[in-house]
Amino acid sequence: MTCRELGGACDHVHVGDDANEVIKAQDAHLRDAVAAGRSDHEPALRDMKGRWRRPVSGMKWYRQVQRDFAARLGAEAER
Ligand SMILES: [Zn+2]
Repeated sequence: MTCRELGGACDHVHVGDDANEVIKAQDAHLRDAVAAGRSDHEPALRDMKGRWRRPVSGMKWYRQVQRDFAARLGAEAER
């Protein structure tokens, strides 16, 4: 899935065996991008941090990513 699909600001692609890996990769990518001075990634990093503080809305987002990830896998399997 891309950074943009995960709420970020670029088309950097994350690959992983499951949604958890992709989310972890995005978390690291956002931190790296902001540390490198890319302010376009700051809102997404703020959202990502906020999710851990708001378990209910964070979980909703997390489930959505899992669904998107599963849909992506299904689409690839059919090809
Ligand atoms: Zn990005």
